[in-house]
Amino acid sequence: MSQATLIDGKAIAASVRAEITARAACLLAETGRQPGLAVVLVGEDPASQVYVRNKDKAAAACGFHSVKHSLPADTSETDLLALVETLNADDTIHGILVQLPLPRHIDESKVLRLIRPEKDVDGFHPVNVGLLSIGDRESALVPCTPAGSLVLLKRTLGPSLAGLDAVVIGRSNIVGKPMAQLLLSESCTVTVAHSRTKDLVEVVRRADIVVAAVGRPEMVRGDWIKPGATVIDVGINRVPDPSRGADATRLVGDVAFAEAAVHAGAITPVPGGVGPMTIAMLMANTLTAARRLLNVPAEPDLF
Ligand code: NAD
Repeated sequence: MSQATLIDGKAIAASVRAEITARAACLLAETGRQPGLAVVLVGEDPASQVYVRNKDKAAAACGFHSVKHSLPADTSETDLLALVETLNADDTIHGILVQLPLPRHIDESKVLRLIRPEKDVDGFHPVNVGLLSIGDRESALVPCTPAGSLVLLKRTLGPSLAGLDAVVIGRSNIVGKPMAQLLLSESCTVTVAHSRTKDLVEVVRRADIVVAAVGRPEMVRGDWIKPGATVIDVGINRVPDPSRGADATRLVGDVAFAEAAVHAGAITPVPGGVGPMTIAMLMANTLTAARRLLNVPAEPDLF
Protein backbone atom coordinates (compact mmCIF):
# COMPACT_ATOMS: atom_id res chain seq x y z
CA MET A 1 0.00 0.00 0.00
CA SER A 2 1.23 3.48 -0.75
CA GLN A 3 2.05 5.90 2.02
CA ALA A 4 0.92 9.54 2.10
CA THR A 5 3.28 12.47 1.72
CA LEU A 6 3.89 14.08 5.10
CA ILE A 7 2.97 17.79 5.14
CA ASP A 8 5.77 19.31 7.20
CA GLY A 9 4.10 22.17 9.08
CA LYS A 10 7.30 23.01 10.95
CA ALA A 11 9.28 23.56 7.76
CA ILE A 12 6.47 25.45 6.00
CA ALA A 13 5.92 27.66 9.08
CA ALA A 14 9.66 28.40 9.19
CA SER A 15 9.56 29.48 5.52
CA VAL A 16 6.52 31.69 6.16
CA ARG A 17 8.23 33.30 9.17
CA ALA A 18 11.40 33.89 7.12
CA GLU A 19 9.31 35.64 4.42
CA ILE A 20 7.57 37.78 7.06
CA THR A 21 10.92 38.70 8.64
CA ALA A 22 12.18 39.86 5.23
CA ARG A 23 8.99 41.82 4.55
CA ALA A 24 9.13 43.44 8.02
CA ALA A 25 12.70 44.54 7.29
CA CYS A 26 11.50 46.12 4.01
CA LEU A 27 8.70 47.92 5.84
CA LEU A 28 11.20 49.27 8.35
CA ALA A 29 13.47 50.45 5.54
CA GLU A 30 10.54 52.07 3.66
CA THR A 31 8.75 53.73 6.58
CA GLY A 32 11.02 53.58 9.64
CA ARG A 33 8.22 51.64 11.36
CA GLN A 34 8.11 48.12 12.80
CA PRO A 35 4.92 46.04 12.94
CA GLY A 36 3.77 46.18 16.58
CA LEU A 37 2.01 43.31 18.36
CA ALA A 38 0.49 43.52 21.85
CA VAL A 39 -0.44 40.27 23.56
CA VAL A 40 -2.61 40.46 26.66
CA LEU A 41 -2.79 37.64 29.19
CA VAL A 42 -5.12 37.68 32.19
CA GLY A 43 -4.41 35.13 34.93
CA GLU A 44 -1.89 32.33 35.34
CA ASP A 45 -3.21 29.48 33.18
CA PRO A 46 0.00 27.53 32.39
CA ALA A 47 -0.95 26.63 28.79
CA SER A 48 -1.88 30.26 28.06
CA GLN A 49 1.42 31.44 29.57
CA VAL A 50 3.31 29.16 27.16
CA TYR A 51 1.27 30.36 24.15
CA VAL A 52 1.80 34.02 25.07
CA ARG A 53 5.54 33.54 25.60
CA ASN A 54 5.83 31.80 22.21
CA LYS A 55 3.89 34.57 20.44
CA ASP A 56 6.03 37.25 22.06
CA LYS A 57 9.24 35.40 21.09
CA ALA A 58 8.08 34.80 17.51
CA ALA A 59 7.20 38.48 17.10
CA ALA A 60 10.61 39.58 18.34
CA ALA A 61 12.30 37.04 16.01
CA CYS A 62 10.40 38.53 13.02
CA GLY A 63 11.76 41.97 13.92
CA PHE A 64 8.45 43.25 15.30
CA HIS A 65 7.89 45.62 18.19
CA SER A 66 6.39 43.22 20.71
CA VAL A 67 4.65 44.08 23.96
CA LYS A 68 3.32 41.64 26.54
CA HIS A 69 0.76 42.65 29.17
CA SER A 70 0.41 40.05 31.95
CA LEU A 71 -2.44 40.99 34.26
CA PRO A 72 -3.51 39.27 37.50
CA ALA A 73 -6.47 36.85 37.43
CA ASP A 74 -8.60 39.28 39.48
CA THR A 75 -8.23 42.12 36.94
CA SER A 76 -11.63 43.79 36.53
CA GLU A 77 -13.45 43.84 33.21
CA THR A 78 -13.33 47.64 33.33
CA ASP A 79 -9.53 47.65 33.64
CA LEU A 80 -9.13 45.15 30.80
CA LEU A 81 -11.43 47.19 28.55
CA ALA A 82 -9.41 50.29 29.41
CA LEU A 83 -6.19 48.52 28.38
CA VAL A 84 -7.77 47.51 25.05
CA GLU A 85 -8.80 51.16 24.47
CA THR A 86 -5.23 52.28 25.19
CA LEU A 87 -3.83 49.74 22.72
CA ASN A 88 -6.46 50.72 20.12
CA ALA A 89 -5.17 54.29 20.32
CA ASP A 90 -1.44 53.41 20.42
CA ASP A 91 0.00 53.97 16.96
CA THR A 92 3.04 51.77 17.64
CA ILE A 93 0.65 48.79 18.00
CA HIS A 94 -0.92 47.28 14.87
CA GLY A 95 -2.09 43.95 16.27
CA ILE A 96 -3.87 43.24 19.55
CA LEU A 97 -4.36 39.71 20.79
CA VAL A 98 -6.21 38.95 24.02
CA GLN A 99 -5.35 35.38 24.99
CA LEU A 100 -8.42 33.19 25.57
CA PRO A 101 -9.92 31.87 27.76
CA LEU A 102 -10.49 34.88 30.01
CA PRO A 103 -11.43 34.48 33.70
CA ARG A 104 -15.16 33.82 34.17
CA HIS A 105 -15.96 37.27 35.61
CA ILE A 106 -14.97 38.92 32.31
CA ASP A 107 -17.34 39.00 29.31
CA GLU A 108 -15.13 37.63 26.52
CA SER A 109 -17.25 38.90 23.64
CA LYS A 110 -17.35 42.43 25.11
CA VAL A 111 -13.54 42.50 25.18
CA LEU A 112 -13.09 41.01 21.70
CA ARG A 113 -15.64 43.42 20.20
CA LEU A 114 -13.82 46.42 21.63
CA ILE A 115 -10.62 45.62 19.73
CA ARG A 116 -10.41 47.80 16.60
CA PRO A 117 -11.19 45.42 13.70
CA GLU A 118 -8.10 46.74 11.87
CA LYS A 119 -5.96 45.54 14.81
CA ASP A 120 -7.87 42.29 15.45
CA VAL A 121 -5.07 39.88 14.45
CA ASP A 122 -7.01 36.87 15.78
CA GLY A 123 -9.76 37.65 13.25
CA PHE A 124 -12.55 37.06 15.80
CA HIS A 125 -14.26 40.49 15.64
CA PRO A 126 -17.69 40.31 13.96
CA VAL A 127 -16.50 42.83 11.34
CA ASN A 128 -13.70 40.46 10.29
CA VAL A 129 -16.03 37.46 10.42
CA GLY A 130 -18.41 39.37 8.13
CA LEU A 131 -15.67 40.46 5.72
CA LEU A 132 -14.47 36.88 5.37
CA SER A 133 -18.01 35.64 4.81
CA ILE A 134 -18.60 38.12 1.95
CA GLY A 135 -15.29 36.98 0.44
CA ASP A 136 -13.42 40.26 1.07
CA ARG A 137 -10.05 38.85 2.11
CA GLU A 138 -8.38 42.10 0.99
CA SER A 139 -9.94 43.85 3.98
CA ALA A 140 -10.44 41.05 6.49
CA LEU A 141 -8.06 39.67 9.07
CA VAL A 142 -8.51 35.89 8.89
CA PRO A 143 -8.27 33.61 11.98
CA CYS A 144 -4.76 32.17 12.21
CA THR A 145 -5.38 28.41 12.41
CA PRO A 146 -7.66 28.21 9.34
CA ALA A 147 -5.35 30.60 7.46
CA GLY A 148 -2.39 28.34 8.30
CA SER A 149 -4.32 25.27 7.22
CA LEU A 150 -5.03 26.91 3.86
CA VAL A 151 -1.31 27.66 3.40
CA LEU A 152 -0.56 23.97 4.01
CA LEU A 153 -3.21 22.95 1.45
CA LYS A 154 -1.86 25.31 -1.20
CA ARG A 155 1.75 24.31 -0.63
CA THR A 156 0.60 20.71 -1.09
CA LEU A 157 -1.95 20.96 -3.91
CA GLY A 158 -0.84 24.12 -5.73
CA PRO A 159 -2.45 27.55 -5.95
CA SER A 160 -5.87 26.46 -7.24
CA LEU A 161 -8.22 24.37 -5.13
CA ALA A 162 -11.18 25.17 -7.40
CA GLY A 163 -13.76 22.45 -7.77
CA LEU A 164 -12.34 20.18 -5.09
CA ASP A 165 -14.73 18.56 -2.63
CA ALA A 166 -13.80 19.73 0.87
CA VAL A 167 -15.24 18.49 4.15
CA VAL A 168 -14.60 20.45 7.34
CA ILE A 169 -15.42 18.45 10.48
CA GLY A 170 -16.27 20.93 13.26
CA ARG A 171 -18.19 24.20 13.16
CA SER A 172 -16.50 26.32 15.84
CA ASN A 173 -16.15 30.06 15.31
CA ILE A 174 -12.39 29.77 15.76
CA VAL A 175 -11.62 26.96 13.31
CA GLY A 176 -14.47 25.15 11.52
CA LYS A 177 -16.58 28.05 10.25
CA PRO A 178 -13.73 30.31 9.07
CA MET A 179 -12.04 27.26 7.47
CA ALA A 180 -15.23 26.56 5.53
CA GLN A 181 -15.43 30.22 4.42
CA LEU A 182 -11.82 30.17 3.24
CA LEU A 183 -12.33 26.97 1.24
CA LEU A 184 -15.50 28.43 -0.27
CA SER A 185 -13.56 31.54 -1.27
CA GLU A 186 -11.11 29.16 -3.00
CA SER A 187 -14.04 27.73 -5.00
CA CYS A 188 -14.12 24.36 -3.27
CA THR A 189 -17.44 22.57 -2.85
CA VAL A 190 -17.65 22.71 0.92
CA THR A 191 -19.50 20.53 3.42
CA VAL A 192 -19.40 21.43 7.11
CA ALA A 193 -19.91 18.36 9.30
CA HIS A 194 -20.52 18.53 13.04
CA SER A 195 -21.72 16.56 16.05
CA ARG A 196 -25.24 16.15 14.59
CA THR A 197 -24.16 15.13 11.08
CA LYS A 198 -25.70 11.87 9.87
CA ASP A 199 -23.45 9.39 8.10
CA LEU A 200 -20.25 11.27 8.82
CA VAL A 201 -18.23 8.40 7.36
CA GLU A 202 -20.00 8.69 4.00
CA VAL A 203 -19.63 12.48 4.02
CA VAL A 204 -15.87 12.22 4.65
CA ARG A 205 -15.45 9.49 2.00
CA ARG A 206 -16.50 11.97 -0.71
CA ALA A 207 -13.86 14.50 0.16
CA ASP A 208 -10.73 15.44 -1.77
CA ILE A 209 -9.81 17.63 1.22
CA VAL A 210 -10.58 16.69 4.83
CA VAL A 211 -10.04 19.23 7.59
CA ALA A 212 -10.63 17.74 11.04
CA ALA A 213 -11.22 20.23 13.88
CA VAL A 214 -13.18 18.31 16.46
CA GLY A 215 -11.10 17.75 19.58
CA ARG A 216 -11.67 13.97 19.74
CA PRO A 217 -8.55 11.81 19.67
CA GLU A 218 -8.17 9.78 16.46
CA MET A 219 -11.92 9.91 15.71
CA VAL A 220 -11.45 9.95 11.93
CA ARG A 221 -10.42 6.45 10.89
CA GLY A 222 -8.22 5.49 7.98
CA ASP A 223 -10.92 3.80 5.91
CA TRP A 224 -13.01 7.02 5.93
CA ILE A 225 -10.38 8.67 3.73
CA LYS A 226 -10.86 8.66 -0.04
CA PRO A 227 -7.71 7.32 -1.73
CA GLY A 228 -5.38 10.22 -2.52
CA ALA A 229 -7.24 12.82 -0.40
CA THR A 230 -5.39 15.56 1.45
CA VAL A 231 -5.91 15.46 5.22
CA ILE A 232 -5.37 18.46 7.49
CA ASP A 233 -5.58 17.47 11.15
CA VAL A 234 -6.22 20.51 13.34
CA GLY A 235 -6.99 18.54 16.51
CA ILE A 236 -4.60 18.56 19.45
CA ASN A 237 -5.50 15.96 22.05
CA ARG A 238 -3.43 14.74 24.98
CA VAL A 239 -3.87 11.01 25.64
CA PRO A 240 -2.26 8.58 28.11
CA ASP A 241 0.85 6.82 26.80
CA PRO A 242 1.43 3.84 29.10
CA SER A 243 4.26 2.59 26.85
CA ARG A 244 6.36 5.49 28.18
CA GLY A 245 5.42 5.24 31.85
CA ALA A 246 2.42 5.25 34.17
CA ASP A 247 1.75 9.01 34.00
CA ALA A 248 3.17 9.64 30.52
CA THR A 249 1.05 11.30 27.83
CA ARG A 250 1.43 12.12 24.16
CA LEU A 251 -0.32 14.35 21.65
CA VAL A 252 -2.55 12.95 18.93
CA GLY A 253 -4.80 14.57 16.37
CA ASP A 254 -8.44 14.02 15.46
CA VAL A 255 -7.33 11.62 12.72
CA ALA A 256 -5.91 8.11 13.27
CA PHE A 257 -2.66 9.08 11.58
CA ALA A 258 -1.06 5.70 10.80
CA GLU A 259 -4.29 4.31 9.31
CA ALA A 260 -5.12 7.47 7.36
CA ALA A 261 -1.59 7.72 5.94
CA VAL A 262 -2.22 4.47 4.06
CA HIS A 263 -5.14 6.01 2.13
CA ALA A 264 -4.37 9.73 1.95
CA GLY A 265 -2.27 11.41 -0.72
CA ALA A 266 -0.89 13.83 1.86
CA ILE A 267 -1.45 14.33 5.58
CA THR A 268 -0.34 16.60 8.42
CA PRO A 269 1.20 15.03 11.53
CA VAL A 270 0.28 16.00 15.10
CA PRO A 271 2.38 17.57 16.47
CA GLY A 272 4.30 19.35 13.70
CA GLY A 273 1.46 20.02 11.25
CA VAL A 274 -1.09 22.80 11.72
CA GLY A 275 0.21 23.84 15.18
CA PRO A 276 3.36 25.68 14.02
CA MET A 277 1.36 27.45 11.29
CA THR A 278 -0.92 29.21 13.78
CA ILE A 279 1.82 31.43 15.23
CA ALA A 280 3.33 32.02 11.77
CA MET A 281 -0.05 33.32 10.54
CA LEU A 282 -0.39 35.54 13.62
CA MET A 283 2.84 37.17 12.48
CA ALA A 284 1.46 37.41 8.92
CA ASN A 285 -1.72 39.08 10.22
CA THR A 286 0.28 41.56 12.31
CA LEU A 287 2.36 42.53 9.27
CA THR A 288 -0.78 42.86 7.14
CA ALA A 289 -2.45 45.02 9.81
CA ALA A 290 0.66 47.21 10.04
CA ARG A 291 0.82 47.75 6.26
CA ARG A 292 -2.86 48.65 6.11
CA LEU A 293 -2.70 51.03 9.10
CA LEU A 294 0.44 52.67 7.71
CA ASN A 295 -1.14 52.94 4.24
CA VAL A 296 1.65 50.93 2.63
CA PRO A 297 0.37 48.89 -0.34
CA ALA A 298 -0.23 45.22 0.37
CA GLU A 299 2.36 42.63 -0.63
CA PRO A 300 1.39 39.44 -2.45
CA ASP A 301 -0.77 37.14 -0.34
CA LEU A 302 1.04 34.40 1.55
CA PHE A 303 -1.84 32.08 0.69
P1 NAD B 1 -14.75 23.19 19.60
O1 NAD B 1 -14.93 22.27 20.76
O2 NAD B 1 -15.10 24.62 19.74
O3 NAD B 1 -15.54 22.60 18.34
C1 NAD B 1 -15.55 21.23 18.04
C2 NAD B 1 -16.49 20.97 16.90
O4 NAD B 1 -16.47 19.58 16.65
C3 NAD B 1 -17.93 21.36 17.17
O5 NAD B 1 -18.38 22.20 16.14
C4 NAD B 1 -18.71 20.04 17.16
O6 NAD B 1 -19.95 20.16 16.47
C5 NAD B 1 -17.79 19.13 16.39
N1 NAD B 1 -17.92 17.75 16.88
C6 NAD B 1 -17.88 17.30 18.14
N2 NAD B 1 -18.08 15.97 18.19
C7 NAD B 1 -18.23 15.56 16.91
C8 NAD B 1 -18.47 14.31 16.30
N3 NAD B 1 -18.57 13.21 17.02
N4 NAD B 1 -18.58 14.27 14.97
C9 NAD B 1 -18.47 15.39 14.23
N5 NAD B 1 -18.23 16.61 14.75
C10 NAD B 1 -18.13 16.69 16.07
O7 NAD B 1 -13.21 23.00 19.18
P2 NAD B 1 -12.22 23.96 18.32
O8 NAD B 1 -11.83 25.15 19.13
O9 NAD B 1 -12.75 24.16 16.95
O10 NAD B 1 -10.95 23.00 18.26
C11 NAD B 1 -11.00 21.73 17.62
C12 NAD B 1 -9.69 21.01 17.82
O11 NAD B 1 -8.66 21.78 17.21
C13 NAD B 1 -9.25 20.85 19.29
O12 NAD B 1 -8.55 19.62 19.41
C14 NAD B 1 -8.30 22.00 19.51
O13 NAD B 1 -7.35 21.71 20.51
C15 NAD B 1 -7.65 22.09 18.16
N6 NAD B 1 -7.10 23.42 17.83
C16 NAD B 1 -5.85 23.44 17.34
C17 NAD B 1 -5.28 24.66 16.97
C18 NAD B 1 -3.89 24.66 16.40
O14 NAD B 1 -3.19 25.65 16.46
N7 NAD B 1 -3.45 23.57 15.79
C19 NAD B 1 -5.98 25.85 17.15
C20 NAD B 1 -7.30 25.79 17.61
C21 NAD B 1 -7.85 24.55 17.95
